Amino acid sequence: MTKTNPYLAQDRPIVGDVYTSTEPMTLLTTLCDDFGSRFGGTEGAKLASDLLMEKFQAYGLHNVHKAAYDYDGWYRGEATLQVLSPVQRELTCISLPYCHAAEVEGNVVLVGEGLAKDFEKEKERLNGSIVLSQSGGIHRMEKYDRAILHDASGFIFQNHYPGYGEVTGTIGWNHEATIPGIGVSYETGEFLKRLHKQNGDVRVRIQTTDELRQTTAWNIVGELPGRVWPEEVIVVGCHYDGHDISQGANDPLSGMVVVTEMARVLSAYAADGLGRTVRFVAWSNEEVGLFGAYHDARQLSDAQAQVRFTWNLDSAGSPGGRKGIQLHRVPDFEPFIEHAAEEMALDIPIGQGISGYSDHFPYFLQGIPTGSIMTVGRPAGRGFGHTAFDTVDKTDAMAIREAAALGARIVLRMLSADSLPLQARSAEEVERMLKEDSGLEQHRLREAVYEKLGRENLRQYCDAVRT
Ligand SMILES: [Zn+2]
Repeated sequence: MTKTNPYLAQDRPIVGDVYTSTEPMTLLTTLCDDFGSRFGGTEGAKLASDLLMEKFQAYGLHNVHKAAYDYDGWYRGEATLQVLSPVQRELTCISLPYCHAAEVEGNVVLVGEGLAKDFEKEKERLNGSIVLSQSGGIHRMEKYDRAILHDASGFIFQNHYPGYGEVTGTIGWNHEATIPGIGVSYETGEFLKRLHKQNGDVRVRIQTTDELRQTTAWNIVGELPGRVWPEEVIVVGCHYDGHDISQGANDPLSGMVVVTEMARVLSAYAADGLGRTVRFVAWSNEEVGLFGAYHDARQLSDAQAQVRFTWNLDSAGSPGGRKGIQLHRVPDFEPFIEHAAEEMALDIPIGQGISGYSDHFPYFLQGIPTGSIMTVGRPAGRGFGHTAFDTVDKTDAMAIREAAALGARIVLRMLSADSLPLQARSAEEVERMLKEDSGLEQHRLREAVYEKLGRENLRQYCDAVRT
């Protein structure tokens, strides 16, 4: 049985326009091929912020501006990995962001995917060691923090995908990383494992030369004001920085251009009738610690804006599956999505679960319900993500269109509905989730690291936001 669709007059031009539009792929290609990684502190980041601001203006958003903030930017230096015994060899590696200049030496200890039980098995040997852990399974930061908690001296992060070179990913989150960390290819990691298997102890030296310098970054913000409840805000954002070794075409830009496309069609076909305000944000510096999102969440909280929901559309247009909605533990909102799906005669997969790793997290900390667009049926893991191979040629225009059409129609309904079944979480409820939710294990490990090392030794940006 089909439901009548009260939004048909907007849905038709929105979907028709999105599926015939070349805007997102043109923008994505320019951002990648002309501006490179757009990593914080690069000229490309500045040029990308200018272009995104132009787009927000051209699409008719109101109050378009850049929100600047200063942070400790990370600048890559040369890194070396030397095998000292049983053979002598120089291996290729790269520093992981927020590594500092360091030189450490130790025996390699293998901890597989870096689960608690993997560290437990090797605990007698970890003090002063160089931990070798591969990507996949759990997030890199959990592996890295366990290495710190077990008194390792260094961290080698092996790509678990053959043929995609070195893998990257931050290890510091706006303070210098505690122990040096480097990324190596699958093949380099396997070489070390073979040496270890054949000879027992493998001694290595890691040298890194990276620097932190005060740097300015910009979020780009634009709005479509609500006509009925303008003080109620729905945030729709994605970050625009990629990792410095990458074009970051799928992560993040396949989501960034979903956001610009949603802004374009909502402005063109629905702007006059919106009840609530929608705030579009291009966040900066997600990859190194969510700094842009922390900055925006703090600005909104200072302005006492009533943010009803934040959509984090990081990588939303990734290829390889169909699009669904991931709610970050907001079960009460599921019926709203189900109802919208019936109206649109769509089968929309809905998931529930949260992690602390992307730009929704600073809003979550303020009690704001959050969600994202997920790609169902895509193999787990990053694949070419966070490597030099996340390039324009691997993007999929149809996946971007599917995400943009879905996102625009869901947000249209959230902006127009008489009531939204969304409750802000109390500070106690947020605390409870941080302590108990299985997806937020990283947060608890980080707390344990701070406890072990002394929080005052670390310039922790998040503190300012949470207090
Ligand atoms: Zn991302």
